[in-house]
Amino acid sequence: MKYDYLVVGAGLYGAVFAHEAKQKGKSVLVIDKRPHIAGNVYSKQVEGIHVHQYGAHIFHTNNRKVWQYITKFAEFNRFTNSPVANYKGELYSLPFNMYTFNKMWGVTTPEEATQKIEEQRREIVGEPKNLEEQAISLVGRDIYEKLIKGYTEKQWGRDCKELPAFIIKRLPVRLTFDNNYFNALYQGIPIGGYTQMVENMLAGVEVRLNEDYLNKKDEYDAMAEKVVYTGAIDAYFDYRLGNLEYRSVRFENEILDIPNYQGNAAVNYTDRETPWTRIIEHKWFEFGKDENGNDLPKTVISKEYSSEWKPGDEPYYPVNDEKNGALYQAYNELANQESNVIFGGRLGEYKYYDMDAVIAAALDMCEKELS
Ligand code: UDP
Repeated sequence: MKYDYLVVGAGLYGAVFAHEAKQKGKSVLVIDKRPHIAGNVYSKQVEGIHVHQYGAHIFHTNNRKVWQYITKFAEFNRFTNSPVANYKGELYSLPFNMYTFNKMWGVTTPEEATQKIEEQRREIVGEPKNLEEQAISLVGRDIYEKLIKGYTEKQWGRDCKELPAFIIKRLPVRLTFDNNYFNALYQGIPIGGYTQMVENMLAGVEVRLNEDYLNKKDEYDAMAEKVVYTGAIDAYFDYRLGNLEYRSVRFENEILDIPNYQGNAAVNYTDRETPWTRIIEHKWFEFGKDENGNDLPKTVISKEYSSEWKPGDEPYYPVNDEKNGALYQAYNELANQESNVIFGGRLGEYKYYDMDAVIAAALDMCEKELS
């Protein structure tokens, strides 16, 4: 065997594992079917702007160990995510906070806001059974109708009554004037871009791009003692138990000859009619400046369209409802029988992981596997 480990997928999970394995003196080969490293955190410079090619990635974590780990590979800026919601031309602050409640109801104090929410959440009795009930019980029907329902149904392509409640629990609700989207101790964007950060993680590791593992599985398996597979778990087993469902995303990127299109990195279009879910204006992740601190004259925007995944598309989001959860469990049992393969990451574990959680999971795996 030529290598101790073959890592399939050069995204965050694969990069952490490869880095750690190399540190431990193991021989590692990383392959990826795409023509670039960094998986879905891949960023590319356009007009001096780091464009997040597979959607906005804002690093945030409460996990000090993860923060200390990732900042070895990049310095982070102090970007704070505060998306704006556009509902038919009305603008609201996100996440749901005093600015949002003031605009929605005219209330000016936390007490008045609480009263409004209390009035509206009464329609939900007992434990919320789905995303709709969870949302109404968190912020009431008005906010649900204007800021949640349309956006969520576009993003997931499913009725809010069919979606699990936990998805909406990602969003904080605050009775303060605080537009920071994340409750996180640490937050920022890697200076120099995500691709450079992953490049640093993979320094000294052999990487081969445009290599499709599943097409030449036997050949690759013969090259290494063990495989770390970060692709889709159902694809690994050739969909033999049926397809897991994923959401995919299509981006329409435009370079505009103006310095400022929307004045914010993210604007969510929360009505049902606008076909895109959000528009990202990438320069604002880095305060509109180039590497030397000069204002950038142009701007790059991406309109994000959500769609149901079909073969040939990139999978982005696992659909963690009951049906898919059960199917994943069945695949996971098959995975447990593959003694020389470790399944990891958003696709390998079919889990709506944030970046920090992927890194934490990879580091845990390294501890088990490499010590
Ligand atoms: N969400 C919403 N309105 C918004 C933003 C988010 O209802 O303006 C809900 C929606 O259900 C979505 C979930 O919150 O699926 C998570 O959104 P987030 O932006 O955190 O997702 P990601 O950035 O991972 O795409």
